[in-house]
Amino acid sequence: MRVELVNTGTELLLGDTVNTNAAWIGQRLAALGIQVARQTIVPDGAVIRVAIAEAAQRADVVLVSGGLGPTNDDLTRESTAELLSLPMELDEGVMSHLKDYFAKRGKTVNEATQRQAMVPRGALVLPNPFGTAPGLYFPAPLGAFLGWNAHIFLLPGPPRELKPMIENEVEPRLREWLPDGATRRVLYLKVTGVGESDIVEAVEKRLECVPGLDLGYCIRGGDVDVRLAGGQSSVDAGAAIVREAFGDCITSEDRRIIEEVIVQLLAGRGEWLATAESCTGGTIASRITDVSGASRVFGHGWVTYANEAKQQHLGVPAELFEKHGAVSEEVARAMAEGALRHSGADHALSVTGIAGPTGGTPEKPVGTVWIGLASKGAETWTLRRFYPGARDRFKLLTSQAALDLLRRRLRGLTPRP
Ligand code: AMP
Ligand code: MG
Repeated sequence: MRVELVNTGTELLLGDTVNTNAAWIGQRLAALGIQVARQTIVPDGAVIRVAIAEAAQRADVVLVSGGLGPTNDDLTRESTAELLSLPMELDEGVMSHLKDYFAKRGKTVNEATQRQAMVPRGALVLPNPFGTAPGLYFPAPLGAFLGWNAHIFLLPGPPRELKPMIENEVEPRLREWLPDGATRRVLYLKVTGVGESDIVEAVEKRLECVPGLDLGYCIRGGDVDVRLAGGQSSVDAGAAIVREAFGDCITSEDRRIIEEVIVQLLAGRGEWLATAESCTGGTIASRITDVSGASRVFGHGWVTYANEAKQQHLGVPAELFEKHGAVSEEVARAMAEGALRHSGADHALSVTGIAGPTGGTPEKPVGTVWIGLASKGAETWTLRRFYPGARDRFKLLTSQAALDLLRRRLRGLTPRP
């Protein structure tokens, strides 16, 4: 099903108003497994008519936002009526809604506002409990004489009016029109620690063979979200393929990010985490404490940037720096084990690395990082990673790898080499 958006409003093009309607609608439709095929922004005025006509030629559903108000430049209603050659008629239902709405505010309906009660013949009124302008729905047969096959929805611009109308009036109809109707599902498999191209190479060909499966990828925060949409059986078949290829790298199947998964896992076990960070400057602690409920699992975090701090607060032996350097497996191990001892936590994560752009050497180039994980009653794990690039990216990817190392321990898995 091809859905197009037409967002109207000069303020959107001037940058005065951010087009939040497009983002919000995109997310709502994605949850139904529909990817918006195209989005157009046009200023107020006559061009609205052109934009709607163009979209209606291509799409099965056109969602138009804005321009339903009482002023002269609000032309969406009239433009659509003209395109479809529909006469405007006064709608008594809308009129009484307007009278009510204004009476409650101690006002009467003026002439400009009365325009909002004019409804093109054949269009359905979509009630607007949060404003004056009703939405309008033009069923596809109204455009058949133009060779169109598009259902057209006119929706108000203000987000607080548009959102409930999408939820209550548009989405139920979309669901009805989707080929797999009520059984349509969307599943997000969050894969951590594997590059997008590796994922594509491993599973795309097989996924494309699953009938009725819509497939999408999105990279965010060092993860790849694999989005599977379609009927229940198509999504199940797709998920089985991805799980078989990357099972132990799937951090969640419900859109939760890794720090949320970790806080929940730790809380479920009644266990505590401590952190000892150098090059990430507290990013791991920050991410953990972004999660509500973190106080049940996180008590201690050190940022030990200088070697002296690593010695003084974590008890890292001075000779390790001389023998192996601050960025080394030995120091990462000593930091994690020191943090475990000093905090009394059940698990302690450590990181030490070279964020750059300066400070690299041939055997330890910028981007080199060692991660350690010490846990009570278990052997300490260490991991070397290489994330050359900007410092913020380095911190993000390093913290992601560290959190994933802990997730693997909590899930009974082994570290990824
Ligand atoms: P309109 O119905 O076009 O007159 O819009 C009324 C109000 O909604 C104005 O304050 C607009 O800035 C706001 N608005 C219109 N379109 C959008 C949009 N796409 N995203 C966010 N706000 C919008
Ligand atoms: Mg406007």
